[in-house]
Amino acid sequence: MEIKILKNILGANDRIAAKNRELLDAHKIFAVNIMASPGAGKTSVVLQTIRALQDGVRIGVIEGDISSSIDAELVAKQDVPVVQINTGGECHLEAVQVQDALNNLPLAEIDLLLIENVGNLVCPAEFTLGEHLKVLIASVPEGDDKPFKYPLMFNTVDALVLNKIDLLPYVKFNVDGFTKTVKNINAKAEIFKVSCTTGEGITTWAKWLNSRMGKPLKKRITST
Ligand code: MG
Ligand code: ZN
Repeated sequence: MEIKILKNILGANDRIAAKNRELLDAHKIFAVNIMASPGAGKTSVVLQTIRALQDGVRIGVIEGDISSSIDAELVAKQDVPVVQINTGGECHLEAVQVQDALNNLPLAEIDLLLIENVGNLVCPAEFTLGEHLKVLIASVPEGDDKPFKYPLMFNTVDALVLNKIDLLPYVKFNVDGFTKTVKNINAKAEIFKVSCTTGEGITTWAKWLNSRMGKPLKKRITST
């Protein structure tokens, strides 16, 4: 009985996600579902990605949080259109909430849509939103054992961004071991090492994201 109900929910979610994808594609928008545990630095990566790409790419943002609009306010300061979704206790975004947010964004003025999911390494992995790319932000202080504990999340993503590498001298974290574990779970995942504090690795990550958009842009980032 439980399983049947869950299947129905996921089936409905998939149907709405497919509609979201149609809408995004009609507007030639490339959408990225950004997932992570709380505090890994999703908003910091969003802000750094905006700074890196803003000259050549028109960016929009959907901020998913259980409550508050703190992150959306930070993003709005970057002069990009942003919609806040408050899930009111739900620990993941669903396609229907993204559908609502899309109805409140200037779609004709967006090339790249960054969707910051609710901080959680479990159920966001199960709810597709209509996105083109799934990204997981992991961070050094969380420890290098997360892939063992949340294999579905690590398996489901196209790219993994390891954030806060500026803390490596102070935290026990085996980068090579972590990378090997991730590759064992998900051989296709691209792995990036960044620090949103120092800016290290951000250009490499942003260039790759830009290349995945697969559409001609007004101008491409050239800095290295
Ligand atoms: Mg955030
Ligand atoms: Zn959830």
